[in-house]
Amino acid sequence: MYAEIIVDIAAEEVDRVFTYAVPEDMQLRPGMRVEVPFGRMKKEGFVIRLKNTPDYDPEKIKTVLSAPDNYPVLLPQLMALAEEMRARYHCPLCEAIRLMLPAQMRGNRVKIKTEEYVRLAISPDLVDEAIAKETRSKKRKLILTLLSDGEMHPVDEIRILVKDAKAALDYLKNREIIESVSVERLRSPYTGQVDEKEDRTLTPEQQEVLSEMLPALEKPCKPFLLHGVTGSGKTEVYIRLVREAVKKGKGAIILVPEIVLTPQMIQWFKSRFGDTMAVLHSRLSAGERFDEWRRIRFGNAKIVIGARSAVFAPMENLGVIIVDEEHEQSYLSQSFPQYDARDIALSRCKREKAVCVLASATPSIYSYAMARRGDYTLLEMPHRILNRPLPKIELVDMREELRLGNKSMFSRALQEKLDACIQSGQQAMLFINRRGYASSVNCRKCGETIRCSHCDVSMTYHSWDKTLRCHYCGNVMPMPERCPSCESTYIKAMGTGTQKVEEALKKMYPHAGVIRMDMDTTAGKNAHFDLVNQFRAGKAQILLGTQMIAKGLDFPQVTLVGAVMADMSLNFPDYRAAERTFQLLVQVAGRAGRGEKPGEVVIQTYQPDHYALESAVRQDYRSFFAQEFDRRKKSLYPPFTLMVRFLCDAKDRETAMATAEEIKNQITCRFGSTPLWRRILYIRADEAPIARIQERARAQVLMKLLNHPDTDQLIAVMQEMAREERAAHTVLEINPASLA
Ligand code: ADP
Ligand code: ZN
Ligand code: ZN
Repeated sequence: MYAEIIVDIAAEEVDRVFTYAVPEDMQLRPGMRVEVPFGRMKKEGFVIRLKNTPDYDPEKIKTVLSAPDNYPVLLPQLMALAEEMRARYHCPLCEAIRLMLPAQMRGNRVKIKTEEYVRLAISPDLVDEAIAKETRSKKRKLILTLLSDGEMHPVDEIRILVKDAKAALDYLKNREIIESVSVERLRSPYTGQVDEKEDRTLTPEQQEVLSEMLPALEKPCKPFLLHGVTGSGKTEVYIRLVREAVKKGKGAIILVPEIVLTPQMIQWFKSRFGDTMAVLHSRLSAGERFDEWRRIRFGNAKIVIGARSAVFAPMENLGVIIVDEEHEQSYLSQSFPQYDARDIALSRCKREKAVCVLASATPSIYSYAMARRGDYTLLEMPHRILNRPLPKIELVDMREELRLGNKSMFSRALQEKLDACIQSGQQAMLFINRRGYASSVNCRKCGETIRCSHCDVSMTYHSWDKTLRCHYCGNVMPMPERCPSCESTYIKAMGTGTQKVEEALKKMYPHAGVIRMDMDTTAGKNAHFDLVNQFRAGKAQILLGTQMIAKGLDFPQVTLVGAVMADMSLNFPDYRAAERTFQLLVQVAGRAGRGEKPGEVVIQTYQPDHYALESAVRQDYRSFFAQEFDRRKKSLYPPFTLMVRFLCDAKDRETAMATAEEIKNQITCRFGSTPLWRRILYIRADEAPIARIQERARAQVLMKLLNHPDTDQLIAVMQEMAREERAAHTVLEINPASLA
């Protein structure tokens, strides 16, 4: 017997199958992990196929050394998915396979934890006789009496009941009266408390959406896009859909943007599904991850909740994948291969005949466009549960505040409402939009943001040479001293930290209690859960935070939500700035008024007329979509084109820049005189918007490519270029989540 094997080396030259002989006594199946000799090394590999005859001289064929597991670690459907990813992302097959296994499994870096048990090795009928024989040892008598029930008993238990049991146990084992058994113990990562949630009676709206989805469990159909406003009760719909799938013996994967942000979702699912649920996320220990993975692989867990990579969960009989908050950029992988978990979900569901549900209160422009075109089935939940009103949103023009002499970061309106909220003992959430990286330059008097005249994105302030740069076309100008539109001198680079706001709040409301949630306060494993639970328990009246408080949280006591600097993200040099801002504001506003008391929202902005803000105030997704879609079409941004870039990072700026230039020239030489050149709408080598990260200088070659069937050839070549040896470390990104 011979096996075709993919060797786990991420290099193009070895990205093909190698044939090995299978030893007589080795049971191999496709998908199993093996160890093979490769050159002079021992390498790990995966069995792709088995065959009876080799395709070349059997004398030269090496033999598989061992198979560490006794089961295929890769399901056939996941192997097929890996093949598809190789073609789509132009990556070596083993790089796709690596995504499907717990990292620590490679190279056997985690050990299975076991617990020792003992049980009778003789027939229970003979045990009385055996006990009677043990006249010389009370301990052995006692042990046999304990085991006479025929059950397995943990050795630890025996040790508690029988002092110094070891010698006695060994004696009985040696005479084969008892035997020991080791049982795998699965580490359980879940520590949070479970609040006992009862099933609710579904509202007609929830019922209707559910009844559209259920038939898809029987008969494959198009993916669903569920557009449900914040607080419309989407989670309950997920739970019912998942339960029906489980009843049919199928499994479910629920993807959430960042698991630590969705403690409630986990709690709700846990309370309904208990131990049949697994959780996969980056903060699990290696052992925990490995165990959860195996619980899924062996069918002990039918339901998985997890972040991006959970889309590769080894679920055998998949019934449904739900992608919650599908617009979130965390579904795009930041490392190579840069897969989009939504694409993987769609493709898995198609292959495995499962239901795919993408859901959001603010769907991505791409998904909504797909639904409008009829590629997805659009389902809508336009109302909040129990007809609770959507919160009332007030837009405050911060230019006006300045004109009236208010230079603080709180407008009068927000201040008044905050006073009232605190005095009446209710809770408030304050949100500071500090997404991203680069600072834009704004006029505090007229609200003007300095934008590139060619690209319709904000110019970025570079403190090292005090210039403004456009990171799309390379346009450079000096930092102006006066606002180009109103001549005021109140023009500056924006940015305020949460810490500063926290200090101000503590002075204003010394007794209210302030909880701050941002990158700094949530570093520990359970820090998110703890802070969220403290706020829920009423330990503080104000929750202050960055985007991490914007999403998914359900605090019924919150009646006021304030977006202190709502439009920061509007000015990032990214063509998705408007989309991100709209999504964020709708989500933030959605945190208010989720209980019985209605909610109020104050959004502070310097650009009240911007369509992203206007539509957010009216919670009008469709109007936003229409305007944004038009703008993308006019300016040729995705989904009408592809944004592609090489990102080069090096110790110093010169090396990074030189590499970017070199790549740009290489592309021009290679394609300049071919028909493919026309697919490149523009190409430019420049510094990246964040010119330095952690002491590394960053440069980029940014391109806009036309969406055309032959563009893929172009990308395949570029992918190869990215892998060439260069002075600066280089990666290629296709429509990356961030153009920072
Ligand atoms: P979404 O995810 O759509 O923003 P959630 O799933 O968080 O909304 O639900 C909002 C609130 O409504 C939650 O507190 C939830 O427990 C409650 N809820 C959901 N469905 C029902 C129902 N059928 N009856 C009563 N309350 C419900
Ligand atoms: Zn420009
Ligand atoms: Zn101005």
